Amino acid sequence: MRYVSTRGQTPPMAFQDAIITGLAPDGGLLVPASIPDVSAKLPEWRDLTFVELASEVMGCFIDDIPPEDLRGIVERAYATFDHPDVAPLIDLGETQVLELFHGPTLAFKDIALQFLGQLFDYTLGQRSGRLNILGATSGDTGSAAIAGVQGKGNVNIAVMFPRGRVSPLQQLQMTTIADANVHCLSIDGSFDDCQSIMKRAFADVPFKTQHNLGAVNSVNWARVLAQVVYYVYAALKCDEGDGVDVSVPTGNFGNIFAAYVARRMGVPLGRLLLGTNENNILSEFFNSGDYTRGAVHHTISPSMDIQVASNFERFLYFGFGEDGPQVANFMEQFAQAGTASVPIEILANEPITATAINTEQTLATIARVHQMHGYVLDPHTAVGVAAADLLAPPTARERPMVCIATAHPAKFPDAIRQAVPGVDARHPRLDALKAMPERLVELPATDAAVRAYMEAHLF
Ligand SMILES: *Cc1c(COP(=O)(O)O)cnc(C)c1O
Repeated sequence: MRYVSTRGQTPPMAFQDAIITGLAPDGGLLVPASIPDVSAKLPEWRDLTFVELASEVMGCFIDDIPPEDLRGIVERAYATFDHPDVAPLIDLGETQVLELFHGPTLAFKDIALQFLGQLFDYTLGQRSGRLNILGATSGDTGSAAIAGVQGKGNVNIAVMFPRGRVSPLQQLQMTTIADANVHCLSIDGSFDDCQSIMKRAFADVPFKTQHNLGAVNSVNWARVLAQVVYYVYAALKCDEGDGVDVSVPTGNFGNIFAAYVARRMGVPLGRLLLGTNENNILSEFFNSGDYTRGAVHHTISPSMDIQVASNFERFLYFGFGEDGPQVANFMEQFAQAGTASVPIEILANEPITATAINTEQTLATIARVHQMHGYVLDPHTAVGVAAADLLAPPTARERPMVCIATAHPAKFPDAIRQAVPGVDARHPRLDALKAMPERLVELPATDAAVRAYMEAHLF
C-alpha cells in the first residue's frame, strides 16, 4: 500500500515513511492510494478480540511491517488499557455507547497515540533513528501524546500549552510525568500562539531536518488508521443485518473521518452523524456546502473548540473524487479568503449528516441520560448523543445507533456538576495526580525561546 498526498504533488511513499513524514511536503495530508474492500473478510472477523481485529484491519493498510511484528506493536499499545475489551460497548437501550476512554489519559486519543508511540519505537528501532516530537495542545492531545512516548529512548517530546488556559487536571496529566524524555513547555500566550510556533518550526525545513522533528498531531495517518479499527469492531458487534448508524462528537474531523474510511471499506455502517458544539463550521458545511471560518467559542466541550479542522482535507479529497488539484484550489481559496464552498450535490451522495449542539442541549442530555440510566456522559460524548437524538429520534431508528464516548466524565468535573448537581465525577488516577510533583518550563511565546530550549535539551 502506497500513500499519496491530498494535493497530488508528492511522490507516493510507503506506510512507515508516511508516518515519520507526518504532513506531505506539498502541504497536503497523506492518504492511502486506494481504500481496501474488506467485505469478504467480515464474517471471519466477527469473533475476534479488539487486538486481533486491530492487527487484521491495520494489516490491510500496511505492507512494510511483517504481520507478526504488527501484532506485537498492537498488543503493546493496548496492554496499557484497563478494560479487558479495550473498547467496551454499553447498552443504554435505544443507544449503544462505545467507551473509548480506558487508556492511560482517559480520553479516546489514547487509542491512536498509544499505537503511534509503539509504531515510532518500532520504526526508529529498525532504522536506528531518533525523533524529536514538538506538539501544541489545548488539552487532551498533549497528555495522550506524552503517554504514548514517555520513557522511550529514541524519542523526545516537547509539548507547548497556553499558561493558565488548560484545565488544572489536564495540566497535571502532562506535568506529573517524570520521564526525562518529556518536556512540558508552559507558554505565556494563547493556544494559537503555541500552534503558530509549532507550524513555523515544521515549515523551516533546515530546522526540521537538523532536529529530526516529528509530529503527533491529527494529520498523522497512523492516528486515523488506529481509529478505523473501533468502527469495524462496533459495527461487527452491533449489526443485526441492516448495518449500524454512528454518532460522533467532532472537532478536528479525525474521529468521524475514520468512520468514513471504515464505511468505504465495506463495513456495515449506515448514516454517520456528526455533532459539533457552538464551533459549528463543520455542521454549516454539511448543511450548506459553505466552509467559513468563524471566531473560536469557548465551551464546556473544550477539545472540540476548533474552527479549522485539519482532517477535513482528507474528506474533501475523497468527496472530489481523489482530485488533488481541486483540493489544493479549495484549500488555497480558504487560506486566502477564510471561506470556500463545494456544490451541494457533492454532499448529497455522502453519508454524513451534521448538526450543532449548544451548551444548554449538552447539559440537558447529560442530565437526561443520568436520570434514565444512571450513566454519566462527559460533555463531548453528550454532544454526540444529543446529535443522534436530534437527527435520528430514538423512536424512529431503523438501525442500531452507536454513540462514540470520547472521554471519561471525571476529566470534566465542572460540566458534570453543572448538569447533574450532586454528582461528583471522579477517577482514582486523576485524584492521585493532585499529590504528585509537577515539572514544567515557563517560556515566552516566541520562536526564539522555544527553539533555544529545543537546541539545549533535545537530540
Ligand atoms: C479530541 C477530542 C474530540 C474531537 O475529536 P476530533 O478527532 O478532533 O474530531 C472529542 N472529544 C474529546 C474528549 C477529545 O479529546
